Amino acid sequence: MSTPPDEPARSGNFLRTIIERDLEAGTYAGRRFAGSPGDAAHHAAGAPDPARIRTRFPPEPNGYLHIGHAKSIWLNFSLAAEYGGICHLRFDDTNPEKEEQEYVDAIVEMVHWLGYDWVQGGARHLYFASDYFGFMYRAAEALTEAGLAYVDEQSAEAMRASRGDFGTPGTDSPFRGRPAAESLARLREMRAGLHADGAMVLRAKIDMASPNLNLRDPAIYRIKRATHHNTGDTWCIYPMYTFAHPIEDALERITHSICTLEFEDQRPFYDWVLEHLADLGLLARPLPKQYEFARLNLTTIVTSKRKLRQLVEEGVVDGWDDPRMPTLVGLRRRGYTPDSLKLLAERSGVSKAGGWIDYSVLDIALRDDLDPKAPRAMAVLEPLKLELTNWDAEVGAGRLLPCSAPRLQSRPEAGQREFTLGPQVWIERDDFAENPPKGYHRLSPPRTDAAGNALPGSRVRLKYGYVIECTGFSRDGAGRITAVQAVLVPDTRSGTPGADRVKTKGVLTWVAAHDGLPAELRLYERLFTEDQPDGGERDFRDCLNPASRRVLQGFVEPSLAGVAGDQKFQFERHGYFVADRVDHAPGRAVFNRITALKDSWAKQP
Ligand code: ATP
Ligand code: MG
Repeated sequence: MSTPPDEPARSGNFLRTIIERDLEAGTYAGRRFAGSPGDAAHHAAGAPDPARIRTRFPPEPNGYLHIGHAKSIWLNFSLAAEYGGICHLRFDDTNPEKEEQEYVDAIVEMVHWLGYDWVQGGARHLYFASDYFGFMYRAAEALTEAGLAYVDEQSAEAMRASRGDFGTPGTDSPFRGRPAAESLARLREMRAGLHADGAMVLRAKIDMASPNLNLRDPAIYRIKRATHHNTGDTWCIYPMYTFAHPIEDALERITHSICTLEFEDQRPFYDWVLEHLADLGLLARPLPKQYEFARLNLTTIVTSKRKLRQLVEEGVVDGWDDPRMPTLVGLRRRGYTPDSLKLLAERSGVSKAGGWIDYSVLDIALRDDLDPKAPRAMAVLEPLKLELTNWDAEVGAGRLLPCSAPRLQSRPEAGQREFTLGPQVWIERDDFAENPPKGYHRLSPPRTDAAGNALPGSRVRLKYGYVIECTGFSRDGAGRITAVQAVLVPDTRSGTPGADRVKTKGVLTWVAAHDGLPAELRLYERLFTEDQPDGGERDFRDCLNPASRRVLQGFVEPSLAGVAGDQKFQFERHGYFVADRVDHAPGRAVFNRITALKDSWAKQP
């Protein structure tokens, strides 16, 4: 089975090999860290870094985190913990247009929910890339002065056209050869707001013929009049992401900068920026290194922020925290636990090879996590009334029989739950069959078989209660079955001597009518019917599962009175459920099914 989720992941992954090699070689030994992010001089004046490595989780605060982010969070925080390092939470908020405080708050809440913290030894390692705008601009001026960057005044179209493509080298901009002093003057004018948005950009001067298109003089600063959530209107020029990111890492003295594979082609530029800024004395060595791993792709979900937003805005789901959403707020509301997400992250592996992980891996992780700890309870999802017609004779009119069951079979110390059996009981509608199919071991009435033999009604055990024998059933005018009748079989009460004298093949879960709590039970299935909903040419909305949610009105056993939102249970025979953190309230029980006890998805047509 699994490693205990609280322990750092132990399975091999190539990042661990790299870190161990670096630690052995002393690559990062003797580094100084001044206690806060800063340039070379700042850190040189600091103390030796107590962290053996530094990693970071760098979300852009432009949307809600999803399950893919959980993998990145797990990877960065658990590697740091495992090797005596520190992981920073850094908001990569250099793009002024799409970022909002609402997302910052939600991300902080979710990283905490996953069980991670950025306070280490009294220092709080939560950073905003926008706090580095001053340094980034200084770096841009330094590169320009050194002749390593120039202001290009070509139109955007001309710049695109001169970039070439895979087969064709690009051509130099007419502004490429301008004197450094002229570029610097222009850059200062850009900064001072003397030019219109898009009129010119600052470009790194690298190689217009490079086989790596990202090295064909990439833009590093652009003019954009936009109010930033943190810096307001202080800036009208903003750094490009590919320039900003390596600088953020270096200012924070990150050692291992872990990202997903789509940034592999950016690595040479990442190194170019850092090497030159270190040569210019602005950034401290040793410099961070970027490493890429394959992103987590889970079948039957989409994770693109744009598509998730569409689902919310078009009303396909009820909101970002709809229990069918792969957002962390959605997964939390559905009942998935932090440990189940970490198990998924670990089991999906850390490698360079992309691929799709079956969604069932998440459900298996959830079951592995909850099986030893979720208290058991009985629930009836689709109720049918069962009347025990010999109750008064067998038990006594007005009497109830106390029953008890373990909260957790595997841990007797968790104690017992108490409830009572009475003359009227709710059972599942499909636990009764008027004409039972072959092999059906639940309730069926007395009948005559094809050969004309009279067969008695079937016998089953009401779990923790009594053996009963079915005697008949009732219908309403429309032919719908409204109740089933049965008799208690004497001397078969669970827990009494000789109770197993009468053998039954079927054991039914039930909730007594007199003390069962009415409950709304929300059953969820995959939101999409295709493994790769946004694969190929398909519009992901064309494969929505129309039956992704069923809402039932049922009953749960009285021991569940007073449970709070977020508490999780295994409803015997039905799966794992959570009290809905939004709608569950005193007097209104609402439970979400997290997952069934077994995977049934694969069997569906
Ligand atoms: P999306 O593409 O869904 O909008 P993003 O990559 O733009 O996500 P960021 O906020 O930039 O979102 O991501 C923060 C971190 O999470 C990055 O380091 C990114 O590589 C990582 N990340 C995002 N999606 C996944 C995924 N599916 N698997 C692993 N890591 C991921
Ligand atoms: Mg991104």
